[in-house]
Amino acid sequence: MSPESRIGRTGKTSFRFGLHVSAAGGLDRIFERGESLGANTVQIFSHSSRSWGFDLPTDELLEAYRRQRSTSSVSRVYIHASYLINIASEEHEIALRSRDTLRKELLTADLLGADGLVLHPGSARGGDRSAAVRRAARILREVLDSLPDLKTPLLLENTAGAGSMLGSRPDEMAEIIASIDRPGCLGLCLDSCHLFAAGFDLSSEEELDRVLADFLSALPSGGLSLWHLNDALFGLGSGRDRHAGLGEGHIGQEALSRIIRKALSSGVPVILETPKGEGEALDRLNLRRLHTFAGLPVPELLRDAG
Ligand SMILES: [Zn+2]
Ligand SMILES: [Zn+2]
Repeated sequence: MSPESRIGRTGKTSFRFGLHVSAAGGLDRIFERGESLGANTVQIFSHSSRSWGFDLPTDELLEAYRRQRSTSSVSRVYIHASYLINIASEEHEIALRSRDTLRKELLTADLLGADGLVLHPGSARGGDRSAAVRRAARILREVLDSLPDLKTPLLLENTAGAGSMLGSRPDEMAEIIASIDRPGCLGLCLDSCHLFAAGFDLSSEEELDRVLADFLSALPSGGLSLWHLNDALFGLGSGRDRHAGLGEGHIGQEALSRIIRKALSSGVPVILETPKGEGEALDRLNLRRLHTFAGLPVPELLRDAG
């Protein structure tokens, strides 16, 4: 199906796209933030990503959230897990906190009917990588075993590979996933900036297909669940996780266009995590570029961007 034929006359589109938005002021506010930018998909943090403690949403908040969601054009909601979580940590205290916080994040995601909880597979922090992989897998097993009715998939995100971050390579991802006995609970989120920083050249269709196939081979079933689409501030293989606006980094328009078209043809949602600056101007600009890079019509709301 061509991209054009996926766009209905009503403006309804099967292109799932959006961006990371703030949940400040309440989780029910995220829908208007996505709508004001023409997005039909959003990603949020369920709580301050820099603090460990948080409460599950109250019944009142859940009611407001569900009311907003039932009428919103934003139909998909992803949650990015806290950056503090390190399920591969060698420190007992951090590992326990990570386990409990991840469990709470998943409970919250289920209450919110989220479409996925995105998690970085953790860091070996300079220690032995294979031991770190085993620790990460053990915590994932413990958390999933404690949530037998979990509906929200846990999406493992590839990393840029800096500072002994796990999950920058398909084989490491595969090792973590292989020891989980409920593979149906797991999915994969690929971040274009992280791929590039980890040394995966995305400059041709063949390369992109190979990278995708290699990462997807880590999963026993199912395809890619989500793209994080970001340009990379530093060069190929830099190991540095620094996002740039679309077309403003080292990946560039051509390679990003290829990824967007692939996402579109396979129905995989695309979330931008590009630098924000003041107000909505940069978000609008990047969402506009997302469409122009793919050769898609720019939604009405974004026409005046940039
Ligand atoms: Zn990402
Ligand atoms: Zn990143």
